[in-house]
Amino acid sequence: MKRLALTLTTLTGILIASLVIRTVTFNSRQLHPPPAPALRLDDDAIAKRLSAAIKLPTVSFESATASNAEGFTKFHALLADSFPQVHAQLTKETINDQSLLYTWTGKDPTLKPILLMAHMDVVPVDSASEKLWSHPPYSGQLTDGHIWGRGAMDDKASLLAILEAVEYLLLERFQPKRTIYLAFGHDEEIGGNNGAAKIAATLAARNVHLEYVLDEGMNILSGIVDGVTTPVALIGVAEKGYLSIELSAHAEGGHSSIPPNENAIGRVSRALQRLEAAPFPAKLRGPTRTMFEFIGPEMSWTKKLAFANLWLFEPLIASQLARSPLTNATLRTTLAPTIFNAGVKDNVLPTQARAVINLRIMPGESTASALQQVRKTIDDPKITVTPLPVRIEPSAVTEIESPSFKLLARTIRQTAPEAIVAPSLLVGATDSRHYAGLTKNILRFLPITITAADTKRYHGIDERISIADYLRCINFYSQLIRNSQS
Ligand SMILES: [Zn+2]
Repeated sequence: MKRLALTLTTLTGILIASLVIRTVTFNSRQLHPPPAPALRLDDDAIAKRLSAAIKLPTVSFESATASNAEGFTKFHALLADSFPQVHAQLTKETINDQSLLYTWTGKDPTLKPILLMAHMDVVPVDSASEKLWSHPPYSGQLTDGHIWGRGAMDDKASLLAILEAVEYLLLERFQPKRTIYLAFGHDEEIGGNNGAAKIAATLAARNVHLEYVLDEGMNILSGIVDGVTTPVALIGVAEKGYLSIELSAHAEGGHSSIPPNENAIGRVSRALQRLEAAPFPAKLRGPTRTMFEFIGPEMSWTKKLAFANLWLFEPLIASQLARSPLTNATLRTTLAPTIFNAGVKDNVLPTQARAVINLRIMPGESTASALQQVRKTIDDPKITVTPLPVRIEPSAVTEIESPSFKLLARTIRQTAPEAIVAPSLLVGATDSRHYAGLTKNILRFLPITITAADTKRYHGIDERISIADYLRCINFYSQLIRNSQS
């Protein structure tokens, strides 16, 4: 008995020691470069240029019949007026009538070019919510240290900040060694097939191979990540796949006064219930796991201990993270029923019931494996399972050991030194996937500060950017271009 107690005490001692050792050696992954030199910017003129760009409603419409060609032509003219050096010294090409590709040729053709992306189009403002805006959505109002309007965050700030940075560097007579492409699509909000996809195809036909691509995607989160007091700059190193599946059941119909035991509505409902009861597994893996390897060392002691010892605490942490929809989506392939219809009249049995579920698929899985899993879970030959035509595979994961990731992490630390940097998984989709054939290194980041309340402004009401953040975006792109020269 005594020996048993002694063994138990020894084992507990070893366990505690090992937990503590792992925690104290769970070292920070943050870089400490010198801060970027301050730019001499004319804040007022810069804010006015972004404001003017917001005033042009370059809306992408879902319907194929609505087009906004005139809006984009005006936008191109505005860019030409606003950035004279860019338009005098870079090569500009219009791709597929409305997208733009600028080439700033570097002195050293042996270096692979880089490509900075943004999109010109914005989502519409629905008439019901228009009056809820503090300032009209296409006013480009400059108030309270902010620039207001649709596109201020997504994605005109990025587009104009890239051009401001290049214009500034041109005026400084900066000459890049490495060729720099600026690629601005016009239909990101409806899939990018006519814009980014066509620009990428143009470059592929020229046999261009890129060192890296930088797109929008993640931001600097303030007060959102649990367990850290500093803001967290997240670099999207991968994005989830996309698939919608239709589930349908057919029945004979007839009068509802003599119902059969089985009904099309009941059948489809049961299929949805089975899917809800058996979600895809939640695991701390891939970019989400790596994110915590970067954030963990910066956390308070108890949280740090947990993340330093995932071998023991992973199930506990995963189940906790799965409780919030935001973090749950980074742990597993998610599935959401989005459409359900059946029936035409209250006393008529439906001949058909139909539901659509939308899946967002984890890197490492595929649309095919997700579809198979759905079929297996439903396990009902009377349900027809049909994938809908839009299928986007999960992206590859950009290596965090790649020089491109390190370069971006360093640039963020130089221009947003208050933030810690971490890789992460994007649960939505960006235009960057169209460039997957041109580089292994796709990075998704724009340095605007987002609080929990700000997340609703994306595609929502009161979209805005602070002038301080916008100036930082310009500083960031300028420093990134400087850092990318070797
Ligand atoms: Zn966007």
